[in-house]
Amino acid sequence: MQPQKAVPTLTRKMIMPGQTIGIIGGGQLGQMMALSAKYAGFRVVVLDPTPHCPAGQVADQQIVAPYADTTAIEQLASISDVLTYEFENVDLAALDDVADRVAIPQGTELLRITKNRLREKTFLRQAGMKTAPFVAVHDRDGLLAAVDQLGYPCVLKTCEGGYDGHGQLVLHSLADLDDPVVDEILATKDDILEGWVDCQLECSVMVARNASGETSVFPVSENIHWNEILHESIVPARISNQTAQRAQQMAEKIAHALQLRGILGVEMFVTATGEIYINELAPRPHNSGHYSIEACNFSQFAIHDRAICNWPLPKIKLLHQVVMVNVLGQHVEDTRRLVATKPNWHFHDYGKAEVRHNRKMGHITILTGDVEETLKEIDDTHVWRDKH
Ligand code: AMP
Repeated sequence: MQPQKAVPTLTRKMIMPGQTIGIIGGGQLGQMMALSAKYAGFRVVVLDPTPHCPAGQVADQQIVAPYADTTAIEQLASISDVLTYEFENVDLAALDDVADRVAIPQGTELLRITKNRLREKTFLRQAGMKTAPFVAVHDRDGLLAAVDQLGYPCVLKTCEGGYDGHGQLVLHSLADLDDPVVDEILATKDDILEGWVDCQLECSVMVARNASGETSVFPVSENIHWNEILHESIVPARISNQTAQRAQQMAEKIAHALQLRGILGVEMFVTATGEIYINELAPRPHNSGHYSIEACNFSQFAIHDRAICNWPLPKIKLLHQVVMVNVLGQHVEDTRRLVATKPNWHFHDYGKAEVRHNRKMGHITILTGDVEETLKEIDDTHVWRDKH
């Protein structure tokens, strides 16, 4: 594991209300981070290329420029007391360039590890975690050798830039190697082949840590994906207390190994025998943690803001069982109709101007005393009938 870059003393100061949080990226994660920061009295400036983006709608100021625009990042750094980001594909060099001027508590080493699947899995193994078996792949010959080693089924993934199932393909047999997507993935020359983990459930744990080494660990969320996109999160996850505790301990261990400052999403596979494999890390708030806004004593966004501002971190309590369901482009119209009949549902809409198929447009949080009944209630609306 690479040592974390020395943290400038700037990072250790508590950032207080009235001071400015700069956020790179203005989507829904930035929006909810900004809203939470506004409740606590911070100024918020967002950098995003789309005018009036979701976070821009609630921030004090938006700098409209591409994420990698170095002049814009310098401008953001010059007016911010602390810089953070809502996604992992941030320009590392541009961040490094301003690190002497503004606190960047999360540092760039965290991004360097988590933006690349190979580095991330190597780090996780070194931190003592189980992951799917994996082999680096750079070309077709390498792929054939890796398939021989890992067997079918296996998953070919680009090391960088993939999201929500893009940039990956499950291989079931030799015939799948002729799929044109294989060539598209191999074209990047920086890929990974993973052995298949036969999991019973996919789960995630949000964990935060501050510069003093304090942590806040959220309860385990059980995540149901449709087409590689999160559909529902159920909290607490339907796993044993013992497995849940182990999942939380693993998340905390990863946070310490990373010397994390801020929040991290830890995605996991849980097998039928309760074994836990770490799949992916998200160095930011995560879709599967949205439930915390209504269901916990602190939301993942409030905790992220506290952690990057170096405030002390509380113990997280789940106040209520909860189900979260995502609203994608194809669900927007129908869920608007549900507003009239579901007075107990919390409807979140990110205010995105363009509605597109499979684009995350909002989510709904349902506090419940009976998860199975709530899952049925969601199904019975027929809004989420189409898995495609
Ligand atoms: P990822 O982009 O790595 O999160 O993968 C997207 C989805 O594909 C995961 O949520 C799993 O459902 C599935 N998946 C990816 N890799 C594996 C694996 N090695 N074993 C089993 N399922 C996987």
